[in-house]
Amino acid sequence: MKSGRDNKRINVVANILEANDRVAMENRRLLEKSHTRVIDIIGSPGAGKTRLLEATLPALAGKMRVGVIAADIETTLDAERIAVLDVPVVQTTTGAFGGACHLDASAVRQALEQLDPSEFDLIFIENVGNLVCPAEFDIGQTARVVVLSVAEGEDKPLKYPLAFRTADLVVISKTDLVPHLEFDMAALRDNLERIKPEWIELSARSGDGMPSWIEWVGRTARRAIC
Ligand code: MG
Ligand code: ZN
Repeated sequence: MKSGRDNKRINVVANILEANDRVAMENRRLLEKSHTRVIDIIGSPGAGKTRLLEATLPALAGKMRVGVIAADIETTLDAERIAVLDVPVVQTTTGAFGGACHLDASAVRQALEQLDPSEFDLIFIENVGNLVCPAEFDIGQTARVVVLSVAEGEDKPLKYPLAFRTADLVVISKTDLVPHLEFDMAALRDNLERIKPEWIELSARSGDGMPSWIEWVGRTARRAIC
């Protein structure tokens, strides 16, 4: 049996998520008005999220208007890496919101005030490095991608199922490192198959697998927002 105190805590969590969902729906309506698609990229610190963007953005140049929202607890390091590619970027630091380890819909709403969605066909959001709670917060995205590097180990889809279950696509990154690791790709594929059938294996460094990813991004950018 649950105590009254536990129930109260559950209600507080439910209210936070409900309030977040309302703002996420407003974000979605705002983005829909300008036909802007948003791809939310989540994954652990060091999974290769920024590196993936660095390899992706030049391939999209001239094909669509792309912007980036980069989120971290502190620093503008990621935004600086994107800005040198001549792509409009806004850095959100959650340090100002108590160092939140994820983006919520309100933080994205504030970023969208700086990066006017009507100027973009596609906005990438690089979420705060974390494989846990970014999966719990709807931010108004069109699609969510979880990036998992081979260096993190084949068991992660089993340990963090929510992130993998709720993602539209899993990107297995840094495949060029496989020969240097005690890593079982077959086991990872087995683990993924149980949770999320669609994934792409790639290396932003060598370019292997990048064409499939670019194709997926293009398809998502053309997808109707519902
Ligand atoms: Mg990064
Ligand atoms: Zn968090």
